[in-house]
Amino acid sequence: MSSTLLESALNLVFPPTCCGCGERIETPKIEVFVCATCADKIKLLGQSICSRCGSASAEGPVSQCAKCPHFETCYSFSRSACSYTSPIRELIHEFKFQGSRRVRPFLYEIFLKGADRFLNPRDFDAIVPIPLHWWRGFRREYNQAELLADALGKVWNIPVLPKAAKRVRMTLPQSQIPGRYRERNIQGAFSPGPESVTGMRVLLVDDVMTTGQTLAGCSVALFQAGAKRVVGYTLARRG
Ligand SMILES: [Zn+2]
Ligand SMILES: [Zn+2]
Repeated sequence: MSSTLLESALNLVFPPTCCGCGERIETPKIEVFVCATCADKIKLLGQSICSRCGSASAEGPVSQCAKCPHFETCYSFSRSACSYTSPIRELIHEFKFQGSRRVRPFLYEIFLKGADRFLNPRDFDAIVPIPLHWWRGFRREYNQAELLADALGKVWNIPVLPKAAKRVRMTLPQSQIPGRYRERNIQGAFSPGPESVTGMRVLLVDDVMTTGQTLAGCSVALFQAGAKRVVGYTLARRG
């Protein structure tokens, strides 16, 4: 069966719907999963951002903003490819909890293009994804941070070190707990892992940045392991 025929057959059985709004997509192709209306709603981050935390800034480029992490950050700065709004929220949810292969290429593209806008591969020696607790891996939850890191590592031709840091304590998702408990939730959650980052400039990758405390907690472990510099980069930025 040719791929076009197969596509038509699959489209009959599973009419494609938009991951953003759930509407059926007309003139479908297998790889289409967001309708044009939802695709237009994606808020890519570009020039008008805070140079410290990477969040959107209505006043154009600023050196610090109200959303900046108020605690002492130990990483140099962070960037995110887009805002955590619909339909990115739904796509990331599908990516995370169903390991959906159909949304991956689309999210990878947003992530890789963001990296092109904000970062230079020559500034880094390694890419480290925020690790999952072993229990979550055991339950076959997908480490979307590692999948994103792998995609970037391939394009940049830079080693990805998923075991440079490890999660030694189970934590609740930062988005699910009140702000004042977030720092305590993540403190001591990471420790250096078996892969060495001594003397390296590390790009620390995650899917979503909320307050920056997860990036901060993990970068402490990387500095303990001898990293020279840590920069954070996430697919999306909440808030
Ligand atoms: Zn839609
Ligand atoms: Zn900021």
